[in-house]
Parts: sequence; C-alpha cells; structure tokens
Amino acid sequence: MAHSILPLWIDGRPQSAASSRLAEIVNPATGAVIRMAPLANAADVHAAVAAAQAAFPAWRATTPLRRARIMTRFRELMEKNRDALARLDSEEHGKTLADAAGSVQRGIEVIEFACGVPHLLKGEQAEDVGRGVDCHSLLQPVGVCAGITPFNFPAMVPLWMFPVAIACGNTFVLKPSEKVPSCSLKMAELFKEAGLPDGVLNVLTGDKEAVDALLTHPDVGAISFVGSTPVAQHVYTTAARHGKRVQALGGAKNHAVVMPDADMEFTADALIGAAYGSAGERCMAISTVVAVGAAGDALLPLLKQKAAALKVGPGHDAAAEMGPVISAPHRDRIVHLIGSGVAQGAKLILDGRGLTVAGYENGYYIGPMLFDHVTTGMTIYQEEIFGPVLIVLRVNSYEEALRMINANPYGNGTAIFTRSGHWARRFQHEIEVGMVGINVPIPVPMAFFSFGGWKSSLFGDLHMHGMEGVYFYTRTKVVTSRWPTPTEHSAATLAMPTLE
Ligand code: NAD
Repeated sequence: MAHSILPLWIDGRPQSAASSRLAEIVNPATGAVIRMAPLANAADVHAAVAAAQAAFPAWRATTPLRRARIMTRFRELMEKNRDALARLDSEEHGKTLADAAGSVQRGIEVIEFACGVPHLLKGEQAEDVGRGVDCHSLLQPVGVCAGITPFNFPAMVPLWMFPVAIACGNTFVLKPSEKVPSCSLKMAELFKEAGLPDGVLNVLTGDKEAVDALLTHPDVGAISFVGSTPVAQHVYTTAARHGKRVQALGGAKNHAVVMPDADMEFTADALIGAAYGSAGERCMAISTVVAVGAAGDALLPLLKQKAAALKVGPGHDAAAEMGPVISAPHRDRIVHLIGSGVAQGAKLILDGRGLTVAGYENGYYIGPMLFDHVTTGMTIYQEEIFGPVLIVLRVNSYEEALRMINANPYGNGTAIFTRSGHWARRFQHEIEVGMVGINVPIPVPMAFFSFGGWKSSLFGDLHMHGMEGVYFYTRTKVVTSRWPTPTEHSAATLAMPTLE
C-alpha cells in the first residue's frame, strides 16, 4: 500500500522537500507504517531558515501586544483541537490517550504563559544612577531560533520552545523527531489559522542531516534542543562553536528516595505512575527507587502487586494504562538490559519480557518490570533504560541516598517521600538535581516556572519556558542616558567615567 507523504511546512504553507530521503512513521501499537515523512537536507534547511530570516523584521516590529493577541487565538485553537492532537500524539508515540491529552494540556499552558509577553518583556529601569543620568534595559529578540525535539513528547516539548521564542519576537524553525512529526505540522497549521504571519514558524521533518545543517547555519542565532545526552553534547558543542546560544537538555536517571516514615501506600501509587506512565519513556520518569532502612521491605510487596495489575494495551484503548514502547529496536535494547541486570545479580521481581497483546501481536509491547537489590555498579543502574523498568536500591541512611544521587552523572528530576519536614528540607537544600519533588513523584514545573536539569541532563545555562525561557530568547540591551541643558558643560576627560 502506498503511504501518504507528509510535507515540510515552510513560509506558511506545506511544501515538498528537496531531499528524496524518507522516514517511515510507524504506529507502535500495531507495528504498521502509517505514513512517510521527508528527511530534510541542507537545501530544505536553507529554505526554512531563509523564510524565517525574511519574516523576522516585520515580526520583530509587530508590537508585543499584537503578538500576544495572535498567541491567544492560537491557544483557543489548540484547546479546540486538543483531542485531535492527543490522538496524533498517541498514534505516533504509543502512549495512552489520557496521557497524551495531559501532555498536550501542559504544552498549552506554555502558550498561556506566552500570552503575557507584553508584561514579560518589561526590562529594568533606574532613575539617577548618576547625577542626571538614567538607565534602563531592553529585552530584544535574537533573530532566527531553531528547536530540535525528541520522540517522547510529540506536542509538549515543541511547545516548551516555539511559543516563547515567537512571543519574544523571534522567528522559528522546528525540527521534531522523525518518529513523531505530525503534531508539529498540525500546530504550525493552527498557528497560521490564528493569524501568525508566514515564515514566522517553519517545521522541517528530518534527522541528523537537518540538525547538523541547523547547528552550522550562519543565520540561526539560537538553538534549543531536547533529547538524549550524547546528542545534547554534540548539539551544544557544535552550535556553540558556530557562535550560537544553546540550551541542550539531555537524558536522565531520576531517583526517588523513600524514607522509612513515608506513607507506603501513597508512595507506592505515586511511584507506579511515575515509573510506568508512558511506558517509562519520560525524561522525568522515576526509574530508580532508593529505599532507606525499613522502607524497602515495606514498599516492595506493594510495588509488585500494583505493577503486576497494570493493564498493557494500545494507547487508543480506554482500558489500557500503559502502551507500547516506541520501536522494535528500543524494545530489544530494554530486553537486553534486563538480561544484563539478571546476569549481574539483581533480583528480578516482575518480568514483563515476552508480553503480547491479543490482536496487536506486531506492536512493541513489554510488560512492567521490577528489580530489587540493584547496586550502583550494575548496567541497569548506570544507563537510562527509558522503558517500563523500575529498579530498587537499598541503603541504610538518608546520607547514603544523598551521596548516591549526587554522584550520579544525571541531574534532571528527583523526589523524596517522607512525613518529616526535616528530611524534606535537607533534601531540597543538599540535592544536586534541577527539579525536586517532595512527596511529588514527577515534579515537572508549571509553564510559569522554568524546566531544566543539572549536570549531564542540561548543557547550557538557561532552562526552558518561565522567565529563563524569556531570557534565552532575548538579548538584553542596557541604555544609559543623560539630557544636558545647553548651558551644562563638562570638560573632556580621558579617565574611565564614574557616575555619582
Ligand atoms: P535523540 O537524542 O535520539 O533525538 C533527539 C533529536 O535529535 C531528534 O530530533 C533526532 O532527530 C535528533 N538526533 C538524533 N540523533 C542525532 C545525531 N546523532 N545528531 C544530530 N541530531 C540527532 O532522543 P530521543 O530518543 O528522540 O528521545 C529520548 C531522549 O530524550 C531520552 O534520553 C530522554 O531522557 C530525553 N529527553 C530529555 C528531556 C529533558 O527535558 N531533559 C525531555 C524529553 C526527553
């Protein structure tokens, strides 16, 4: 059967690609190819950047208030189309519809934040920084910005980037994951319908070839990236070498510390959602439990019983709690890692390998997996598995848990479960991780705070959305002014001027 081929979205309309390379878009629930997407080449990147560059002067000159009005219409259209977007998200990624709808909603909240851009772009002002001298700062757009996004949030992660960049007066080229491009194309269409001028948002389907052309393109001023750590590092170093500002968010290994005083039933429910939601394919998934003292023996039976009860099935089945993983190679990698855990001496409490779903035998399913007595030397501790696998390590004290997490190379998210304000307060102060939950398993900040990890989970300085997003997508200019009267005269001085 011939499949439809998605277009690129350049200069406000669908266009066919110069590149002849194509990617198959597969529904992970069925294993069937559902459509094809072009893999953009350097000529396609050049066309998209040229459209964005041409649109920049007029968009920059559009007042923030007018930009915000278009953004408000975009938010309304996104809300009207939320279910359609969730269906596309689930169809190409595999997550359940309820999960997809939640993530589209979290993305819409970034648009909502960007609707406040006239307020967000206000700089600082000080009168009389010297006698008769005033000072104020301006936040001005960078120019053409580009975003490169991963497969696991087809709508939400692109929405972390382009609404804020565009509200700030930039134009944008988005390169979504080649596995899940349809949500991005749909959102570009909706933004045009909301009144966005042509060329302000462009979408390229593509892979490494398109990414590398963006990273080295002389007319791209800023790069936002979300994906795995090795690619984040490549993006950061290459784009920085080419003079661009970069924020590159990488992978994760998120630990939850469970203190013996925690409410175990509440904690187990929270951990099940955080570990197995979206089949563990979330950068904020809790993949590692650090059980302190007696917490381990109390928690394990609850985790086992609740994980074993999860219903695995296609994302569009309302009864399914967990869908498939993204691809057959990814499932094979997870299975391989599970084998390494067993071989290295971890205790496999629940084995989801070999699971099939009736009627969906070609889908990429794998059941929930649970390991106990994992140690930090094991591969299943050291690698980001990005699948429905929860590992439990046992330690004797809070201090031991803290040392373990702080020694881990990743620092995206973490959580502590306790009834004690003492441990919670120490944890938030001492932990070297960017996003911290206290009895909250997935502490993804709301749109008006900023999202980002530490260490190998983020290369660059500024996080996404919130005020850090506004600072990333703007350049600060500071203006110092004096208005002397015609009679005022000060003699020329060659010394460094000081103001008093
Ligand atoms: P990935 O790194 O394979 O791909 C991310 C993007 O980079 C895609 O658009 C892809 O086309 C492109 N890409 C892939 N290989 C490339 C290369 N060699 N050179 C240039 N570009 C390349 O990531 P993925 O598998 O799509 O997503 C899963 C990863 O993303 C996980 O590691 C997850 O933790 C991470 N992630 C992190 C966050 C965060 O906020 N820190 C959020 C979501 C996902």
